[in-house]
Amino acid sequence: MQNNALQNFTYDSYTLEKKIIFVTGATDGIGKALSIQLAKSGAKVILHGRNKKKLELVYDEINAIGDCTKPSIALLDFEYSSTESYSSLTNSILEDFNYLDGLVHCAGILGDRTPIEQYNPEIWQKVIHVNLTAPFVLTQALLPCLKLSNNPSIIFTGSGVGKAGKAFWGAYSASKFGTEALNQILADETRHTSLRVNSINPGAVRTKMRFAAYPAENRDSLKSPDEILTPFIFLLSDSSIGITGGNFEAQ
Ligand code: NDP
Repeated sequence: MQNNALQNFTYDSYTLEKKIIFVTGATDGIGKALSIQLAKSGAKVILHGRNKKKLELVYDEINAIGDCTKPSIALLDFEYSSTESYSSLTNSILEDFNYLDGLVHCAGILGDRTPIEQYNPEIWQKVIHVNLTAPFVLTQALLPCLKLSNNPSIIFTGSGVGKAGKAFWGAYSASKFGTEALNQILADETRHTSLRVNSINPGAVRTKMRFAAYPAENRDSLKSPDEILTPFIFLLSDSSIGITGGNFEAQ
């Protein structure tokens, strides 16, 4: 999807001032780069991850920038967390911040790259759970917080193999087709509200997931996570008010 407002969009350290934004998978790759840039753009970021040490490192990195609002940490392993963990997250966000302006789903796993005939069913279930079911449960849990914001925005992270099935991409591809369905369903259900729901396909980005998928690739030819963030910032900013149900290409 192309958008004129996005083509002309630029941002600075005030673009997301006072916005409270929850980023999943904030410990690495795109989620980490995005969290740092959101903080630099004025947002209060709630950093989500499954690894406390890595979360604290990102927390420290943001604090060291200076002039940024202190982030918060939400420790939750998508593979193992119970429904109660999600409800207590909702309650603590409501208690600490009263509302949420943005939710960005960056967490994800690749799973196996094998033919369907040999695909391990347990890995299939894990990938579908982490990439699709957990984002659904988290979105549902955080909707009450998002609905208390004037202009809330949800972003799902899609993929090229979430639009066209490709050999050996197995559960990852299926989970990304599901993510796009979730994006479109929720956008349609909330069309007459102020909530915006969109997805972004980052394209090929230099992260550990990409290295696992293409180990022999020349990494220098790939964009870095920092280079593909503009559509994310746009969709979280007030410049995108009224835009919902979209599927954006970051490259
Ligand atoms: P990375 O592997 O670099 O980062 C993935 C993030 O997800 C990490 O923070 C990781 O945590 C977190 N995560 C993994 N499993 C869990 C779990 N069980 N519970 C909580 N968090 C978890 O991936 P990318 O940055 O490359 O990918 C970000 C998103 O972009 C993904 O949805 C991916 O599918 C999508 N994407 C990426 C592309 C690319 O080329 N990189 C292309 C197309 C789409 P930890 O640090 O602990 O491992």
